[in-house]
Amino acid sequence: IVRQRGSLNAIIDTMFPLIQADALRLGHNVIVEKGDTPDNEFDPSEVRQLLLNLLRNAMEAMAPNGHVRIKTYCSSDAIFLEVQDNGPGIPDEILNQLGKPFVTTKENGTGLGLPVCYRIAERHNAELGIRSSTQGTTVFVKFKR
Ligand code: ADP
Ligand code: MG
Repeated sequence: IVRQRGSLNAIIDTMFPLIQADALRLGHNVIVEKGDTPDNEFDPSEVRQLLLNLLRNAMEAMAPNGHVRIKTYCSSDAIFLEVQDNGPGIPDEILNQLGKPFVTTKENGTGLGLPVCYRIAERHNAELGIRSSTQGTTVFVKFKR
């Protein structure tokens, strides 16, 4: 892990062209809501990987013309990164095994995307949480400041 003091919003900015290209290809809409968050210690390439894995899941889950929202915000003790989609939600039967490798519902899925996200969060001393319903899925990562 290569920790660098920097801005979470700036990391998201570097990915924006890639995110837009994916969204365009799949016919989705991406909204980025960057809150006023302080600099913190991040491994930028790991955070990019984390965000990419979450976005790919969101975009793969939604029917065309879906909406995915990337949001950053902070509280007195933490910085949050959130990826929200309006897809069908995560099937109940796998909700409690998403940290385990090779759990997938996709024909060509690896089931490694979320386990890698958990691992990256762990290496940052961050918490990863998932809220999912039939209205959509929100994954948030809470980085301690
Ligand atoms: P993969 O994407 O290769 O299947 P992941 O670890 O990224 O592996 O995700 C595991 C499973 O969790 C997916 O197959 C899918 O069933 C479910 N999942 C993850 N993210 C979402 C999401 N945003 N919406 C609906 N289901 C999801
Ligand atoms: Mg995935």
